[in-house]
Amino acid sequence: MTPALTAIPALAFITLCYGLLCAASPFGDCRRCGGLGFKLRQTRSGKPKRGKDCRRCHGHGKRARFGRLLFNYAARLYREGR
Ligand SMILES: [Zn+2]
Repeated sequence: MTPALTAIPALAFITLCYGLLCAASPFGDCRRCGGLGFKLRQTRSGKPKRGKDCRRCHGHGKRARFGRLLFNYAARLYREGR
C-alpha cells in the first residue's frame, strides 16, 4: 500500500473523532486564559490575584471550537437559503 492509501483512513478517523468531540462538547477552554476568564496577576507579596477579564473570551473562559463555528456557519447558510 502506498502511504497515501494509509493516510486517507487515518485522516477520516481523526476528522470523525473531532466531529464527535465538537458534538459532545462544543465549547473548549479559552487558550489565552486557560479557562479562567481573567488574567492571573500577583500582588507584591506574591499572592495570586484576579486581573482583568480576558479580552478573547470576554470573561467566560470558554470559546466555541473551530468545528462548532463551521457547523454554526453551515447551519446559518442553510437556514437563510430556505
Ligand atoms: Zn479567555
